[in-house]
Amino acid sequence: MKVTANPTTCIASGNCSRTAPRVFANLDENGGFMSILDERPPESEWDAVREAEDLCPSATIQIEEDDEADDA
Ligand code: SF4
Repeated sequence: MKVTANPTTCIASGNCSRTAPRVFANLDENGGFMSILDERPPESEWDAVREAEDLCPSATIQIEEDDEADDA
């Protein structure tokens, strides 16, 4: 899994950092943009990342599903 985002569309709702705090962080709780902490999250985070993508109100988060095991 690879996680990417278009920071220009982020409205800083904070949904992603609440849902997958090991992968996403909000730089500024008062309206800043999110940042990706881990573009290649471990499999244990994949469900949370998919939920964060679903919950993002501005479709900022994109997920590329690739290999089953991506330990690189
Ligand atoms: S859920 Fe989407 S809009 Fe909200 S902070 Fe994360 S990337 Fe930005």
